[in-house]
Amino acid sequence: MKVLFVVSEFAPWVKTGGLADVAQGLPQALTELGHDVRVLLPAYGSILDRSLKIKKVDRWQDATSPIDYQLLSSSYGEVKVWLVDTPSFRALEGNPYHNQRGEMHADCAQQFNLLSRVAASIAGGQTRMRWRPQIVHCNDWQSALTPVWMLLKRVNVASLFTIHNLHYQGRFPSQTLEYLNLPWWLYHADALEYHGDLSFIKGGLVFADKINTVSPTYAKEICTAAHGQGLDGLLLHRQDDLVGVLNGIDTNIWDPSTDPLITATYSAKDMTGKQQCKSALQQIFSLPIECDTPVLGLIARLVPQKGIDILLSALPEMLSQGVQVVILGSGESYLQQQLTELAQQYNRQMGVHIGFSEELAHQIEAGADIFLMPSRFEPCGLNQMYSMRYGTIPIVSACGGLIDSVTDVNAKSSKATGFIVHALTPTALHQKTAQAIEMYHQKDKWQQLVRRAMKQDFSWKQAAKQYEKLYQNSINSLKTW
Ligand code: ADP
Repeated sequence: MKVLFVVSEFAPWVKTGGLADVAQGLPQALTELGHDVRVLLPAYGSILDRSLKIKKVDRWQDATSPIDYQLLSSSYGEVKVWLVDTPSFRALEGNPYHNQRGEMHADCAQQFNLLSRVAASIAGGQTRMRWRPQIVHCNDWQSALTPVWMLLKRVNVASLFTIHNLHYQGRFPSQTLEYLNLPWWLYHADALEYHGDLSFIKGGLVFADKINTVSPTYAKEICTAAHGQGLDGLLLHRQDDLVGVLNGIDTNIWDPSTDPLITATYSAKDMTGKQQCKSALQQIFSLPIECDTPVLGLIARLVPQKGIDILLSALPEMLSQGVQVVILGSGESYLQQQLTELAQQYNRQMGVHIGFSEELAHQIEAGADIFLMPSRFEPCGLNQMYSMRYGTIPIVSACGGLIDSVTDVNAKSSKATGFIVHALTPTALHQKTAQAIEMYHQKDKWQQLVRRAMKQDFSWKQAAKQYEKLYQNSINSLKTW
């Protein structure tokens, strides 16, 4: 199948979260299955600054925009990548969505509308490129206007829209519709209007042929008022077109037996390297090097979704249980500040690094004993899967992809791979941690749990096969006009 995969992040070139890892892993796995996949991505300045091999493919001006832009082509491994190059994407500072002060870029709507429009033009054969897809796969709000532009440009190609996180919807004032050259008839509750605003995500939810999200449980959760983020009615309406496919992980990049970013490699057969990684991690965070003290790790965007405030309330009690805690993240300034202050107060037991560091993320996965994910909601979550692969036992909340990927010690001890906190509260979190620590000190039991977790197969192959079917279903349900 010829697949155009439209996305706003791509690891390792540009990453704020799991979307980037998916954009790198899924096209690669689909390519390995024999499909012809092209990733379409903005040419952010930070990507152009890398010494990539880049070719100019096309240059044009769309009738609906005065901007002159060009399409560049590059590749990552076996995957072909096309980059939409505009002066604005080039000049972006900070991450793709926010500047260094955490404010949304002023022309975010225009830029991601352009990404969608270019995707529709490619799909419609309206560029100089001969290649045309059979399926356009859009991801999250940043590319959600693609099916809308496909409709407006009369492009008769199937589309799939993947929800990676329903919380982020791309909501803009209604007048934005005009700046984007979208017709006013789209400003309707059955189209792009949402409580008086223009909603990008509704483009994908209303107009794509099929919709999916990144775990079976989250697919059910988002059809309820509790997790539907105000869109549960629409999702219920499209329930027959909505499925959940659990993300995979890139088992080459996240492999403790070959990982170049960790202090010592190891495998389930020989765990000595993990001890060295633990000592190195304690050293990085200036904590006492104690091999019998359980080290708890967390890597996350520091936002309410990730339950950081709940963790903050639970931490004094958890630290009294004789553990060390290491945290890597960036996000809301009040959460950054509170974590930093707590780490100063408990400087012999807790270390916090505010920022984004791929290398430190690998070191935490390898060096910690236990990984914390007390998320309020989690569409899929990748870190719990990385953790299991690194023999770092996850403690997760009972939601979304976390319960689809972790088996609780209490529920099925012979298949257990971690600990699940039901009814997430600070008390429930520190009680579950206490249970994990108790097991950690029973060395044989813990080793069994670690080995079982490390044996789990979360590779992309299985998920890629499900996407294959989903693409076929989208093509079959394409309405021809
Ligand atoms: P989300 O997509 O909601 O952020 P996921 O668990 O799906 O959450 O994926 C997060 C990805 O981003 C993981 O690969 C994680 O290691 C990475 N990540 C998050 N914050 C940081 C950080 N501060 N430094 C390095 N990697 C990070």
